[in-house]
Amino acid sequence: MRLVVLGSAGSFPAPDSAASSYLVQAEDADGRTWSVVLDLGNGALGPLQRYGDPTALDAVALSHLHADHVADMAVLGVLRRYHPAGALPPLRVLGPEGTVERLAQLAGKDPATHTAEQFAVEAWAPGRPVTVGPLTLEPVPVVHPIPAFGMRVTGPSEDDPARTVTLAYSGDTDACPGLDALATDADVLLAEAAYVEGRDDHLRGVHLTGRRAGEAAARGGARRLVLTHIPAWNDPHVPLAEASAAYAGPVTLAQPGLTIPL
Ligand SMILES: [Zn+2]
Ligand SMILES: [Zn+2]
Repeated sequence: MRLVVLGSAGSFPAPDSAASSYLVQAEDADGRTWSVVLDLGNGALGPLQRYGDPTALDAVALSHLHADHVADMAVLGVLRRYHPAGALPPLRVLGPEGTVERLAQLAGKDPATHTAEQFAVEAWAPGRPVTVGPLTLEPVPVVHPIPAFGMRVTGPSEDDPARTVTLAYSGDTDACPGLDALATDADVLLAEAAYVEGRDDHLRGVHLTGRRAGEAAARGGARRLVLTHIPAWNDPHVPLAEASAAYAGPVTLAQPGLTIPL
């Protein structure tokens, strides 16, 4: 299983990055490559064409329905429906309740008819894992102003396919028991760090700081921490320093094209 960062900008696209989107791929026992995209924020369809193939996705998994995580679903639908090689079948989409309506709203269409033509939507049920080929995605509720999930993605290790590895993705969240559950024994914790200690202390229940992401990684025993969803108005070295002070393991800043074999 490998993670490829497509977009790492928080809340809106940055000059050098799309908003949140992450490609996860793994091979099954027959050698077929399975591809799942976690979130598809503004601009992410561009790098998805560089690092993956939007016509060969097996599923898109949405953490929540804020624009910076779902906006490019509208144009992914255009690419798949009007492809010169022929319309592609509906794409499997996992997301919170309300995903059908949100996808239709993004496209400016009637949810009663639109979404099913392009997307086969399944609502997350906490505690009920979803299987996509050799990958298992477990949704975990987290704390955000709207219903939001993190995901534990498990699959075969790149080095030793007999070994199962875990990528934990925070989605958007503040510190909460769900985040700690996600981080527990994760090989990689991909955690947002949109806020800054001191500046944003009055805003709780929305986002993590680098420090809070680092504390969750430390509590959970995660083996590696990757910080993402850092808005362009922040200096990324601030959350990097905060996380490194709270967590003794390796900390990396996500950026487009960053590829991590697990
Ligand atoms: Zn966000
Ligand atoms: Zn959000």
